[in-house]
Amino acid sequence: MQNSGVHLSGIRKSFGAVEVIRGVDIDIQRGQFAVFVGPSGCGKSTLLRMIAGLEDTSDGEIVIGEREVTHADPADRGVAMVFQSYALYPHLSVFENMAFSLRLAKRSRSEVDEKVRKAAGILQLTDHLDKKPAQLSGGQRQRVAIGRAIVRAPEVFLFDEPLSNLDAELRVQMRLELARLHKQLGATMIYVTHDQVEAMTLADTIFVLQGGHVRQSGAPLDLYDDPSNRFVAGFIGSPSMNFFAATVAGQTADGITARLNGQPDLSLDIPLAERPKTDSAIVLGMRPEHLVVTEGGGMRVTVDVAEELGGVSYQHGTLEGGEPVVFQQTGARHNMHGTVQKVRPETDRIFAFNIKGDRIR
Ligand code: ADP
Ligand code: MG
Repeated sequence: MQNSGVHLSGIRKSFGAVEVIRGVDIDIQRGQFAVFVGPSGCGKSTLLRMIAGLEDTSDGEIVIGEREVTHADPADRGVAMVFQSYALYPHLSVFENMAFSLRLAKRSRSEVDEKVRKAAGILQLTDHLDKKPAQLSGGQRQRVAIGRAIVRAPEVFLFDEPLSNLDAELRVQMRLELARLHKQLGATMIYVTHDQVEAMTLADTIFVLQGGHVRQSGAPLDLYDDPSNRFVAGFIGSPSMNFFAATVAGQTADGITARLNGQPDLSLDIPLAERPKTDSAIVLGMRPEHLVVTEGGGMRVTVDVAEELGGVSYQHGTLEGGEPVVFQQTGARHNMHGTVQKVRPETDRIFAFNIKGDRIR
């Protein structure tokens, strides 16, 4: 298998008058596991289908390996795609489903046999080769769909929400199997999902899409630790980051003093290299794990739902002004439901944004 990088530059796509991909530049190195993540309708599938050649490209250039393939036939791109609906042939055995493309390509009987058995071994399907898809579990069916891609030895694997039809437990298990498969094959993989946990756990590089734009790309923890805008800050991480309207109250030696609107008693000294003007409106982002319960001054949170997960809990509530808040507790087992708690942010972990949603660093 030759293993290729994928490079998109200035990619645009319109359906009629509606532009759904609005100028996308993406570089995926060979052997990488890249994930396109974003809310439903942001253009993930369209972008993947353009790489596969299943949608025309309105503008821009697609390069796979050394070859410019923007308008090439899907069969000439060296890609294999795995869909959410497994798209198996119900009347064919597992073996024949996996062998299908090789038979079409008139490969020899021995070559077909060798490739299918090798893929089946990798995917733990060896004992199921004679079964029909209906006799398999959902996870096994998805493995057959992946096996069909493996036997073609593509330069690039493309996955469009392949785990969405599986129940929660199986999804976690298949996620681990995909991560192992990627390591074992060393192949370039592009994976589309709306699920940021899948993106975080699988990706070498995540591309966060919104409204046909890439809002930020990078390693999972870099996006988590250093989001460049409010959208990415809110999308990556579960539960989501808290956001509060705030005002710059003054300047300090290494940053600003800020006050949350409606919380006059709480002033926060936030280290920032950029200095938003005093009195300007900003938005402060705080992750649930950076809000600490304190005896002293803090935000007063009325807790209305406590999600107890065992090792950690998430306490959901509101500030006096009604703004929603969630904070994390580790190890604590006393039920906070119905109580008022004072919480204080770790000030060096606060994220600041201007009112347009750009990060202030
Ligand atoms: P995602 O996979 O991120 O949920 P899609 O790529 O499927 O999003 O769709 C992006 C946008 O393009 C959506 O607004 C969708 O309605 C629109 N769209 C997708 N395919 C077509 C099509 N064949 N004709 C018209 N609009 C389309
Ligand atoms: Mg989609």
